[in-house]
Amino acid sequence: MRRLILALTVGLSALAPTILAPTTAFAAVPTPHPAVALPAGIEPMPPYQPQTYCDPKDKPGVVAFGQLLTATYHDTSVVSISRPCGTDTSEHYDGRALDWGAYYKNATQLAEVNAVFAWLFAKDAAGNPNAMLRRLGIMYVIWNKQIWGSWSQKWEPYACSGETACHQNHVHFSFDWSGALKKTSFWTGVVSQPMDPPHPLYTSLTTKQVVTVAANKDKVTTWFAVKAGMTYRLTVSGSYHYRQVAADAADAECSRSYGDAVWHTLVPGETTQATGLRDLVATIPTASPTTATTISGWRAAVATGGGCNTSTHTYTASFIPAMSGPLEFSINDATRADNSGALTVVVARVK
Ligand SMILES: [Zn+2]
Repeated sequence: MRRLILALTVGLSALAPTILAPTTAFAAVPTPHPAVALPAGIEPMPPYQPQTYCDPKDKPGVVAFGQLLTATYHDTSVVSISRPCGTDTSEHYDGRALDWGAYYKNATQLAEVNAVFAWLFAKDAAGNPNAMLRRLGIMYVIWNKQIWGSWSQKWEPYACSGETACHQNHVHFSFDWSGALKKTSFWTGVVSQPMDPPHPLYTSLTTKQVVTVAANKDKVTTWFAVKAGMTYRLTVSGSYHYRQVAADAADAECSRSYGDAVWHTLVPGETTQATGLRDLVATIPTASPTTATTISGWRAAVATGGGCNTSTHTYTASFIPAMSGPLEFSINDATRADNSGALTVVVARVK
């Protein structure tokens, strides 16, 4: 035994320059490389932007990160990005989540996962913690019964059962919107501040969008955008109370009060609450808020007199937006806090 150690020591001494190579190779699992030169500045910690609407299309930053991981580690795979929408909350439903296939009992893949984490969470030369994670816009990671979220910036227990739910056969990455849309400095070389969720274009002729406008809410902005030049129809139904008095009721176009049980439409020129200004205001996209266009020409689906529909409280209007963007709905009432109930707006592309 002594002879063997001695021989090995001599051998290592004699080959000093070459022993560094195997030592380095053993210690360093490769890590991904950005395709561009990274700027000195860096993104803030990615905000938590949970999925709020169904748009199961793979987003480019998520696709690119999956490709980068599998190109760096050939024994791993992209398990999934977008998935059919469910009723729970998941960024797989808006194409912002990546499931990266690596198995915790596979020593090579475990080392690769740990190398990626060390790379994501390392400080950069300027001392910024979690530098690569921020440049990629990753808002949380789940692996092997633990979750790391930008909200806490540490690993915490993740309640689960089974290898898939416990993320022991894949790593889950969820991206903020700017990271998902590949706008962050890891991809562009330019620091990008976090962005609001975009409004996907609604152009389908076979599906409809349902928007609930709570009577006590200031404004509802649709998650989707209507497209310039297309024709849409709005169908509004429901009624609400504009005070805590049962007799004070309104629908999208007409209202009544405890002093006047007859439903009245808004007559042009009426501009005060006393004369019954309780319309639903629907605004279509314009280049500037000061030129906001309000949809007019509402038609009672069942005409019961005076422009009102006391039968079904349903009204329709059509419009062709001059530019693409989300719709906004609000109830024209200066004091909404004491309102109750809601209107339902169905938006349908018809042409
Ligand atoms: Zn996942």
